[in-house]
Formats: sequence, C-alpha cells, structure tokens
Amino acid sequence: MSIKKLGPEELLALDKFSVDEGHPHILVDKALCATCALQVCLVVCPARCYRLKDDQVNFEYAGCLECGTCRVMCTGKGVTSWNYPRATFGVSFRCS
Ligand code: SF4
Ligand code: SF4
Repeated sequence: MSIKKLGPEELLALDKFSVDEGHPHILVDKALCATCALQVCLVVCPARCYRLKDDQVNFEYAGCLECGTCRVMCTGKGVTSWNYPRATFGVSFRCS
C-alpha cells in the first residue's frame, strides 16, 4: 500500500470554511498598503488571501487559515485589526 503525497493546493482544498459574511475577522487598510514598501503579506500568507490586483493589494478573508502570520509580519501597519472568527465560523481542518 502506498500513501499519496498531497501538494499544498490539494491540502487546502480539503479544508472547509464557514464564512461569516459581512464580518471580516481581519481588517486591512488599503491606503496604508499602498504606501507599504515590502508588501510581505503577498508572500507569507499560506492561503494567498493577499493578492495584487491592478497594482493594489487586495485582501479576501474567506479562505483564511487563521495562522496569524500576517498579523506578525505586516510591516506597513495595513493589518489594522486581527481576531479569530466568531464562534462556529472560520476554517475546519480536515485530513485526507
Ligand atoms: S491569518 Fe494566515 S491565512 Fe489568514 S490571512 Fe493572515 S497569513 Fe493568511
Ligand atoms: S504587509 Fe501589511 S501594510 Fe504591507 S501590503 Fe501587506 S497588509 Fe498592507
């Protein structure tokens, strides 16, 4: 019997998200992001919640893994508020 190794995209696809519509648990100030020199969030977020669109940093909380990396690594103060999702919302990690 062999065990199939899954890549990051496949592993992320196993997770289940219950999105708290209209209540983002992380707030990002786009104006501050526009002045941020490093924009490390584009690289460090394992779920790629931060993406460049029309040269602007866009943030989407729906696929957040609640790891806290952006809270620690944000160098331009653009992450203005970071909380875990409200009870019953957020990510549920699942194994294959
Ligand atoms: S908490 Fe983790 S997964 Fe969620 S947005 Fe920040 S870096 Fe990405
Ligand atoms: S590191 Fe922080 S301030 Fe800089 S672009 Fe990302 S979220 Fe915005």
